Amino acid sequence: MSTEHPTCPDCHALVADLTAHERWHTRLVADVAKAVSQALERR
Ligand SMILES: [Zn+2]
Repeated sequence: MSTEHPTCPDCHALVADLTAHERWHTRLVADVAKAVSQALERR
């Protein structure tokens, strides 16, 4: 089969577009890091 879907090395999800998925991961991680640092600053 040539239509093999790649799997994400981070969350092991079957993704049709790994590049877009990895970009989503990067954005998600950045958002979480930002939220965590803001929460720490608020203390
Ligand atoms: Zn993933």
